[in-house]
Amino acid sequence: MNPILHKTLTEQRADLLAGEYSPVELVQALLEAQEAKRELNCFITLLADQALAAASKIDLQAAGPLAGIPIAHKDIFCMTGTRTSAGSRMLDNFVAPYNATVVERLAQAGAIVIGKTNMDEFAMGSSNETSFYGAVKNPWDSKRVPGGSSGGSAAAVAAGLCSAATGTDTGGSIRQPSAFCGITGLKPTWGRVSRWGMIAFASSLDQAGPMARSAEDCALLLHIMAGHDDQDATSSRLAVDNYVAGLDQPVKGLKIGLCDEFAASLPAAMQQTLNQAASELTSQGASLVPISLPHAHLALPCYYIIAPAECSANLARYDGVRFGYRCENPGSLDDLYNRSRSEGFGAEVKRRIMAGTLALSAGHYDAYYGKALKVRRLIKNDFDFAFEQVDLILAPSTVGTAFKLGEKTRDASALYQEDLYTNLVNLAGLPALSMPAGFLDGLPAAVQLIGKHFDEARLLNVAHQYQLATDWHRQHPPESQAPGRSA
Ligand code: GLN
Repeated sequence: MNPILHKTLTEQRADLLAGEYSPVELVQALLEAQEAKRELNCFITLLADQALAAASKIDLQAAGPLAGIPIAHKDIFCMTGTRTSAGSRMLDNFVAPYNATVVERLAQAGAIVIGKTNMDEFAMGSSNETSFYGAVKNPWDSKRVPGGSSGGSAAAVAAGLCSAATGTDTGGSIRQPSAFCGITGLKPTWGRVSRWGMIAFASSLDQAGPMARSAEDCALLLHIMAGHDDQDATSSRLAVDNYVAGLDQPVKGLKIGLCDEFAASLPAAMQQTLNQAASELTSQGASLVPISLPHAHLALPCYYIIAPAECSANLARYDGVRFGYRCENPGSLDDLYNRSRSEGFGAEVKRRIMAGTLALSAGHYDAYYGKALKVRRLIKNDFDFAFEQVDLILAPSTVGTAFKLGEKTRDASALYQEDLYTNLVNLAGLPALSMPAGFLDGLPAAVQLIGKHFDEARLLNVAHQYQLATDWHRQHPPESQAPGRSA
């Protein structure tokens, strides 16, 4: 593959400005690579002609900090005139009439959109196998999952099929696929990035963020994506930090928390990866402080009540009337609702809607939803207390490396365990970044940095300093996938 495709966005941008190659050449190289890697199934919609036309028109000097950079959007972000499916049959025929704020801001910065990436249906999943458009394959080993739900974005960035991508993270969907594919992904503080035009799963948890080949690239992207938006009343009015300018701060003197409860559940090989990352940071002058998150073990059940409850409300709008899938020849209004929904949604989405409806129903509300909200507060309090002692927390991103396609499809709860170290961060509304930190049996392994509310600058800074001293993020998948890796 063309080596320019594995450069970071920041490097590609410098190359474009130096005239090393043109935006059209860059887009062409990406489209060739995509053709060669079709079997990865990263894209739901490829926008080849549109991207080439945009690249040929771009004025590199005038068009903003991302001028000429080809990115991909998770197919959960509305983009004017483009199918926006959320990975569902329900929205297979939905052409968005407007741009999500994230799409709009990146376009204003000069980015070129090369395609819409594959994802778990309505972002529910951890393997990309619930997509109506078929599973995405992991570019490191095509017999394995890329993670989910932003699996198409993660695999496309890792395989060099776009310079960076957007993702969303409700319970881990930016961080877990970033970890499985060996890229850097940031889930911002809830409220840091506008959710306008982003198809809702669980509104109190959903957050958009960047997925890229380095922390530096994520800093550049987040700076453009973040900030208040009049269209989203929950987007914060807090000023956006200059994330790129903050990257050079030394790590020296920082207090980094290590959570006792995580250590107890983490397999030895992953623990070693975490220890190595910790030693790198201490060698740069940070100190490690043990912290406790005593309610961490309640996060999974708490999340799997709150997220389905919110999804059951959000997905009530898909009734076959105004947009989306509509069944053939409905006999009555009830028949229209029933069949449109039962034919339009896949099994996992239905499971969530049913679980959520139960948790919100009159007889069960206090026992499930009400209780889960209380637990959510306890988890947030744990973090608040921990952050009185430390500047950030170093944690595992995932329990293991990418698992095999089909390995967990029959057991929903095994798949839910994938969120063990991620969804508590969403429950507390905090920012967290996953970055590559090693390899286990030829597959990428990662660690996660969790920060205080709106402290994205710190996470990006520490990740950047780590990446200056290590080259895990520089590794990319082999050209031909060795089937032996899955043995
Ligand atoms: N795996 C989690 C779920 O299925 C998280 C998904 C997400 O973050 N969108 O709910």
